[in-house]
Amino acid sequence: MFPSARNFIFFLLSSFLLTSCASLPGLITLTPTEAPQLPTETRFLPTPEAVTLTLPPTESAPAPSATPRPAASPTLQAETSPAAVLSSYTIDALMDYDAKTLQVTQEIIYTHNAEAVSALVLAIRPNELPNVFTLNAVSVDGTPLTTYELDGPKLTISLPAPLENGQSLALGLEYRLALPEMQQGDPNLVRPQIFGVSQRQVNLTDWYPMLVPYIPGQGWLLHDPWFYGENLVYPLANFDVTLRFSDPANAPTVIAASGDGQPVETGMRYQLARGRTFALAMGKTLQVESAQSGQTLVSSYFYPGDELAAHAALEATTKAVETYTALFGAYPHPTLAVVQGDFNDGMEFDGLYYLSDAFYGLYDGTERNYLTLVAAHETCHQWWFGRVANDQAAEPWLDESLATFCERIFYEKNYPEALDWWWSYRVDFYAPKGFIDGDVRSYGGFTPYTDATYRVGARFLEELRKTIGDEAFFAFLKDYSETLNGKIASAPDFFRLLRAHTAADLSGLLAKYFKTPPAP
Ligand SMILES: [Zn+2]
Repeated sequence: MFPSARNFIFFLLSSFLLTSCASLPGLITLTPTEAPQLPTETRFLPTPEAVTLTLPPTESAPAPSATPRPAASPTLQAETSPAAVLSSYTIDALMDYDAKTLQVTQEIIYTHNAEAVSALVLAIRPNELPNVFTLNAVSVDGTPLTTYELDGPKLTISLPAPLENGQSLALGLEYRLALPEMQQGDPNLVRPQIFGVSQRQVNLTDWYPMLVPYIPGQGWLLHDPWFYGENLVYPLANFDVTLRFSDPANAPTVIAASGDGQPVETGMRYQLARGRTFALAMGKTLQVESAQSGQTLVSSYFYPGDELAAHAALEATTKAVETYTALFGAYPHPTLAVVQGDFNDGMEFDGLYYLSDAFYGLYDGTERNYLTLVAAHETCHQWWFGRVANDQAAEPWLDESLATFCERIFYEKNYPEALDWWWSYRVDFYAPKGFIDGDVRSYGGFTPYTDATYRVGARFLEELRKTIGDEAFFAFLKDYSETLNGKIASAPDFFRLLRAHTAADLSGLLAKYFKTPPAP
């Protein structure tokens, strides 16, 4: 089953070395004796999966706040997606690189597109950790406000007057970030946290206050934080981000970003149109190699000594962009960054994704390895997360099953001789089980969650493809990508569009894979 001893060893290691696509600073804190120690090597290899932490059931979670949380049967649908007028984020950050602190001024132009509201709700993920985020000032349309409440990652701002349907406002925020150390380990045990710093890397991911979606008739959509993340829902927005350094002579010169960048005095200015989120990664020893993939400049960011693996990551990403563009429609941005991350997972952001440093160390010169398959997975999230978003907490299968199935498509189109290897290595070996339509909290641990939503999810899509045929299947996926482009999709959207492409009897298939099967 495994072509080499090295692959077999890596295979054992990688049962949790998954593309969790999940990152969140931790509210759940393990005691030191429970938390595995990080290896002392420079590489962040995973620790063996020995224990599965039983996570608290949903019922024991804190009582819902005034902010609505969708139940297992979400009501979010594209028709109720946030306003067509996109929010604009203008962020000016001054970084003290040595101190790893940032002083940030941020403005959000927001247009409301629903019944009047008396308050705004923002997600501030850095404030899930102590002593990281300090809010210094809030203003609305230039008038300072003190009528706000910051409760962990939730900022509620009471407005001086209701914001009516169609009205806009300018929300001003000033804050300071003191970047924390990243946290790593078995994601069943240690809550992953890639935001922050390692010895050689700074990651600014989900690092700024973000307006959460407003669902007409329901309210602001902000889930409680969860152990392995996946709790934010990202409305489409435009970003204009300037990063300056207080001591530019001592700043990194290679910076990976979600958007296209231009040098400005003492820093860089980036823009990302129609993006979900804006991420940055930097380090003084970071290197970069780039290649064109159609209209997109793909850049692979890596550390010295890993040139070969970085080149392979670049090649896999350019091929994946071509493959998915042909099937699902164009990649929406002029640039795409692939970053060697000092943590155990692959992780998607818009216009930027991470590949674990461990994948680079174990790269074997072939396409049959995690470096390549996770590159295919994370690149695919640019369509199923970036182009078409979903509620990752309530319906994680919507993006994860598609991104995992995309790996299968990537191998089918580019390395068909490796397709059987992919199924056995990536899916079948784990004997995955579970219904795919649970919310992120419902699985009781990271491994059962990924088994169901990633692996069983890929099997569902494979069986769906066989049931309805290639022509209908790929026409459906392209329709789903185009119809919901820029929106936040839900399972009802998925099945409504699927039904437009097939009259096949899907009742048995849906009952097999879904705890709550949609109407066939
Ligand atoms: Zn994923």
